[in-house]
Amino acid sequence: MSTVHELMSATDPVAAIATAVRAKRVSALEITEGYLARIAALDPQLGCYYRVDAEGARALAKNLDEKIARGEEPGLLAGVPIGVKDLLVTSGVETTAGSKILAGWIPPYDGTVVARLKVAGAILLGKLSMDEFAMGSSNETSAFGNVKNPWDTTRVPGGSSGGSAASVAAGLCAASIGTDTGGSIRQPASLTGTTGIKPTYGRVSRYGVIAFASSLDQVGPFARSASDAALVLRAISGHDPHDATSLPESVPDWAAEPADATGLRIGVPAEYFDRLDATIAAPVNAALETLKAAGATLVPVTLPHTRYGVAAYYIVATAECSSNLARYDGIRYGLRVPADSLGAMYKKTRAAGFGPEVKRRIMLGTYALRSGYYDAYYRKAQQVRTLVKRDFDEAFRHCDVIAGPTSPQVAFKLGEKTADPLSMYLSDIYTIPCNLAGMPGMSIPCGFAAPKDGGPELPVGLQLIAAPLAEGQIFRAARAFQQRTDFHTRRPPEFA
Ligand code: GLN
Repeated sequence: MSTVHELMSATDPVAAIATAVRAKRVSALEITEGYLARIAALDPQLGCYYRVDAEGARALAKNLDEKIARGEEPGLLAGVPIGVKDLLVTSGVETTAGSKILAGWIPPYDGTVVARLKVAGAILLGKLSMDEFAMGSSNETSAFGNVKNPWDTTRVPGGSSGGSAASVAAGLCAASIGTDTGGSIRQPASLTGTTGIKPTYGRVSRYGVIAFASSLDQVGPFARSASDAALVLRAISGHDPHDATSLPESVPDWAAEPADATGLRIGVPAEYFDRLDATIAAPVNAALETLKAAGATLVPVTLPHTRYGVAAYYIVATAECSSNLARYDGIRYGLRVPADSLGAMYKKTRAAGFGPEVKRRIMLGTYALRSGYYDAYYRKAQQVRTLVKRDFDEAFRHCDVIAGPTSPQVAFKLGEKTADPLSMYLSDIYTIPCNLAGMPGMSIPCGFAAPKDGGPELPVGLQLIAAPLAEGQIFRAARAFQQRTDFHTRRPPEFA
């Protein structure tokens, strides 16, 4: 078996590849070719990538190999092949946000996250599929086709970062980048058996990330293990003068956190278990016991305003998106549908360019922001947001990490929820509060459950939430858990 193959199937491919490339046991180009070949062979069955930038990837790899040959420092992610959600702008590589309205748009610059990945020595393989403008929980609102879940290709991978999640689960990159506005990293991580973290709001720059709801959007990594996620998160975090909401705090070395839960107080919120389906509750409760066995103490906590989270989110997120998406007018970017007058051109372009879910959100958001309605909706939603934040502040006086389910269900069938937006929106019932409050949250694989409608067992995720900037506590709990369990090492049989 070749070194390349061993590295690609490692439990920690990010750490393993960076170490091997640095030590010249394998070249960045060899490992890049390994992933490009695997994508060519397997991605047609899954549809994770909108576009593979094979030439760009090879160029980055050759550059890095030359750098190493010259004895220069290759960076934290030396030679690590990474896929990026198509919401992040990439210099010279088409970026669509999953929307027809941006089809053909080639950005003239790299966003901060992409630039930092390159500085860290990562190899960018291409752009990953997503729900249109990150609006969705199943990857099915993408204008360019859905992604299939590698554990059962009749099911969704979750969303909106479905391509980012499925590509890591199927080994089509060593790690990937997604974004999370209401759960779009954690929910697909849960549904694909991968590890994904949404950091504290402001930890990672949003410069060069196409905006959905600016006060909620955050960027974060998907990986096969918490240690790998820690490395990628470190490479992309830190203050950026290009993003006014970027935090000045220094970036800790999360991979160095002890994989030890001794003394960790884990808060268990009653509201997250109230009506939880038994098939999800069983592995999540077993995971809490594992953390206890690892030295943590379990503390009951309460997050009473959780029940208003989804409602408040769909006011705040739609209001912000209606404003952010006003820029797609046929003048500046992508699609233009010609018409006799300027007004008609705007209308035709937007009617043809946006899909139904995006239009629904723009209409909802514009309605909520109408004069006279602002106080009733937007202001009210912001007040709820404060109450949700206070719940967390109070809970974190009694615990270090909050643990519960990531998603109320395992991966559902393609098409199952597309006709019922409300049931789709409820996919994020446990993830949204974290975004409203700006907290960091992670999903790690914690078991498997048989879907009620039959088929193979599917991954279940455990969500770990910490106070702002306390990602270190999440990594401690996650690494302690992954040291004692093997759920994160299991692979979908057809993509092992
Ligand atoms: N599913 C949620 C939505 O559709 C969250 C999406 C996200 O986090 N980008 O808004």
